Order: sequence, then C-alpha cells, then structure tokens
Amino acid sequence: MAIPRLLEALDFAAVRHSAQRRKGPDAAPYVNHLIEVASLVANVGQVHDVEVLIAAVLHDVLEDTPTTAEEVTERFGPRVCRFVQALSDDKALPRRQRRQIALEELPQAEALVHVIKLADLASNIKLLPPNWTEERKREYMEWSEQAATICSPSCQPLAALYWERAGQTRAKLESGG
Ligand code: ZN
Repeated sequence: MAIPRLLEALDFAAVRHSAQRRKGPDAAPYVNHLIEVASLVANVGQVHDVEVLIAAVLHDVLEDTPTTAEEVTERFGPRVCRFVQALSDDKALPRRQRRQIALEELPQAEALVHVIKLADLASNIKLLPPNWTEERKREYMEWSEQAATICSPSCQPLAALYWERAGQTRAKLESGG
C-alpha cells in the first residue's frame, strides 16, 4: 500500500500549501518544492522507505501551515510525524535563533532525517530568492553549508548533489549575481 499512502500525502500537502508560493523569481507553486525533495530522497538518495518519502512530502506542513502534529500522526502515523517534527522550526522565533537551534539539534537527529534535510537544502540552494540582499544571501549560504556538513555523512549521493549546487550558487554570489 505504499503508493496510495504517498499519493494521499501529496494530495494533503498540495491542499495545505495551496496558498503558498516559492520565493524564487517564478513564484512556483509550493508543492513543486515538496515533490522535488521527495524525488531527490528516492532517486538520488535511493531511500525507498515510504514513510520517509511521505515525511519528505510533508516536511514543511507543520512549519508553514496550520496543520498540527496530532493530525499528521492520525493520518500518517507516529513515525512520519516524528520525522516531520525533527524537520520543523518554531516559526514564532526570530530567523537567526531558529537557524541556530536547527544547527544544535541536527547532530542528534537520526540519519533518515539528515537525508530529507539534505534534499531540502539541495532544493533550496539552487536559486536564492532574488529579492534578498547580498548579506541575507551570504548568511543563508553559511547556515545552509553548516547544516549540510552535519547531514552529509548520512547520504553520500545527496551530499554530492548539494555541494555541487552550493558551489554554483556561491560562485554566482561571488561574481555579484
Ligand atoms: Zn523545504
């Protein structure tokens, strides 16, 4: 029953994130990001555990929508919810503090959480929001690379993809783009 469960998660995430757009130049539907992250976990990370793929689809649903942990547990089970919670920041906190807490908590997270996080970081590092200041882009890159350093030992192929993309983005940033 793996595929029906995964499709249910995609449907759930598409509805919950329907009002949200990506911060990139094309303001893509948010679900594009969720599909990319799950696809990277499966096809680059070679993780085919359906609960990990569901957690990849749902990884932003607690952070960015009014969905509760109880709801995720009820619909997708406690293991999925545990993964999603490990990938969620507390949006009530200021950005710098959230990022600091993430760096402190990531080393204790399980390897499968690192795999999803690497896919998320690889998706986000491709193209930084064009309306960000140079300073904000640099700050984000530094944090992203620190987080990826913690997660990289858990999944070599995704780490390779992340560092390739990060290199390209850093080169663009250094050349003023
Ligand atoms: Zn994400």
